[in-house]
This record gives sequence, structure tokens and C-alpha cells, in this order.
Amino acid sequence: MQCEKLFSTRAKALKSSVIREILKVTANPQVISFAGGLPAPESFPVAQMKAAFDYVLNNDPQSALQYSTTDGYAPLREWVANRMSTNGATITPDQVIIVSGSQQALDLIAKVFIDPNDKVLVETPTYLGALQAFSMFDPAYVSVDSDEHGLIPEALTAEVTKDAKFLYALPNFQNPTGRMMSEERRQTLVEKAREHDLLVVEDDPYGALWYEAAPPASLLSRMPERVIHMGSFSKVLAPGLRLGYLIAPIEITKKFEQAKQATDLHTSTIAQRVVYEVVKDGFLDEHIPSIRERYKNQAHAMLDALTAYMPKGVTWNQPAGGMFLWVTLPEGMDSEKMLDKVFAHNVAYVPGTPFYANEAQTNTLRLAFVTVPPAKIQEGVKKLGEVFSAG
Ligand code: PMP
Repeated sequence: MQCEKLFSTRAKALKSSVIREILKVTANPQVISFAGGLPAPESFPVAQMKAAFDYVLNNDPQSALQYSTTDGYAPLREWVANRMSTNGATITPDQVIIVSGSQQALDLIAKVFIDPNDKVLVETPTYLGALQAFSMFDPAYVSVDSDEHGLIPEALTAEVTKDAKFLYALPNFQNPTGRMMSEERRQTLVEKAREHDLLVVEDDPYGALWYEAAPPASLLSRMPERVIHMGSFSKVLAPGLRLGYLIAPIEITKKFEQAKQATDLHTSTIAQRVVYEVVKDGFLDEHIPSIRERYKNQAHAMLDALTAYMPKGVTWNQPAGGMFLWVTLPEGMDSEKMLDKVFAHNVAYVPGTPFYANEAQTNTLRLAFVTVPPAKIQEGVKKLGEVFSAG
């Protein structure tokens, strides 16, 4: 059958993510992969999950296996609201929707806000999965510059923000760069958002994964009336659960609920029930410090290897948390064009280009460091250094 002619304009425009293509190469166990953004599987709390599944299936199997409400399991929504409430902002459970991974939150945001050619402000670079979700609805992206201290809020002028549907921001240990937005910049961003009546989407799956000190207060806690905050259980428990949450002003939450109903009726009942059992008595506060320690050691192994093996002219940032760092090659080198040589040395990374909504800085690349053992990090970075030295 000739299927191509049946596809919608939207489907015709779809491309496979470069990352998925690279993951095919990295399926080979010989390859040292700094490409995938997977959490370290050793950090998954298997025993706690087993016990929680047993508990839920022994005590309340019928409702745990039944359909449930679109907004999510009420005790879990209440738990999220309590955990996310601060002195600055009290979050109520009716502001919370449990979503099927925070990736679904990006899809709902796109569906609820974006008409073709609507202006959407994004960081430069930004999370590829957000660009994929938003692009299905054909926005006109306006890139907002960032540097090692995160998004530069001074770029949010009256002209840039005029008629923008929202700004998509990743203040903590951003994917792809690992950058954290400074306290000063957060304050300025809040001033600019208020001045220009701008809605801000704050995507924060990595905020708990700091190494030495917690990041500055969230944008949600500073201006809950104009922030949609996204959180996830993927990096602090396990991504296979597909569980995340959205927090928004109530009139927006209601719209998300309607959009979610059409998308998947509701998030997995059993996943919500089990995660609630795991987190309700404070398990995350015992568990997350061990992930922080693990990721901090991995980051140090990567930074040491970069210092030892990168040729002159290559630069990188020192992440204060999360799973990634960002490398800049000398001007004129193209990290995507170098991939074949890199693969030939059995190493992999993700080139910077797909993380840019508009014009890309082609001499950049993302290194993920949490799933490769330190000895292999050394070996892999040494090989990268050789490829980059050869030019
Ligand atoms: N936002 C960012 C910035 C991410 O890095 C990811 C995962 N790669 C997601 C959202 C989606 O996470 P999940 O759907 O697993 O919650």
C-alpha cells in the first residue's frame, strides 16, 4: 500500500531523533557511549519497588488495576503539592496533574498553547525532546541566548517577548549543557516575566541531582502565578515508570486535564499507586543522596579525563549537578561531521546541532557521563582527544 500519501502534513515533517539513530550504533557493547541520556541503572531502587508492588497488589488490587481519574491519584497529587510548596508559594493539589512522564507534559503544553506560527521562546541550546514535542504544532521559535550561568534574561526585551505564548526554560543542570541558572539571573528573569506578562515553562527533572549545594529556588516558588512547572520521577526513581507531574495555575491545569483525557485518559494507575507507596514516608530523601554521590564521582572522572586528554582549544563547563556537560571544539570544527571518525574509534556522543531551535553552533557536543564506569570514561575521552587532535 502507498502509505506516504496518507500521512498528515504533520507526520510528513517528522524526522527520527539523531539520538535514536546514534543509540543504534551504541547498541554495540564495544562502543563507549557518552551519547544516551540514561540514568544509572544501579540507582534504581528495585527492592523498594518490589515491596511496593506487593503491598499494592495484596491490599488494593482491584482499584490499582482499574481505570482512574485523568488528573491522577489524589494522595500522590497531594504529596507533590506538599513537597513543592515553599515559603514563597503554597501549591494546592488541584494545581497538580500526574503525567505519563514529563515528556507528556511537553506534548500537553504544545497542544494547549501552540497554533501554527505562534512565537515560542527557547534557550540556546535547549532540550531536543521539547523541540520535538513543540514542533508537531509548528511554532515560530525565537532563541534566547545562554552562557555558562544559564539563560540570559536581559535578552527578554519587549520586542522579543511580544505575543510570545511562553518561554521554555531549564534552570537546573540543563539538558544538554548541564548548566545551572544563577540566583541573580533567576531574579532578573522574574522581573522581566512580570514586566512583559510572560508565561514561563520550567522543566526541572534534574534539580535534585546537585553535587555540592542545592540550586537556587525554583521559578515556580518565585512567581507561581505565571509558571508551569514540570517534574519527573525518572531521574530520582526510574524512567521505566513513565511518571512525572505538571504544576500550573488552576485555569491552565483544567485545560491540561481536558487535553490529557484525549491523549491517554490517565497515567498508569498501578505506577502511581506504587510510587506513592515508595515515596510517602520520605524514601526519596534517603535515596537521592546516593544518586548525587554517584553522579558527582562520575562527573569528576569525566572532568579529570577531559583535562588530561583534550587538545588545546577545546573547552567545557564544570557541571554542579545532573548528567551532562557541554564541550566546545575550536571554531570551524563540526562535531556532527566528526561522528564517523568517532564511531570508528568505538566512542559516541551527541553533536550539538539538534539542540538548537534555529541557527546551530556546530562545534559543540553533549557528553553524558553517568552510565560509563570511570576507567571507560578515561579510555573513551582519550580516544575523543585523539580524534579531535587529528582535526
Ligand atoms: N525534560 C528534560 C529536560 C529531560 O532531559 C527529559 C528526559 N530526557 C524529559 C523532560 C522527559 O523525562 P520523562 O518523560 O522521563 O519524565
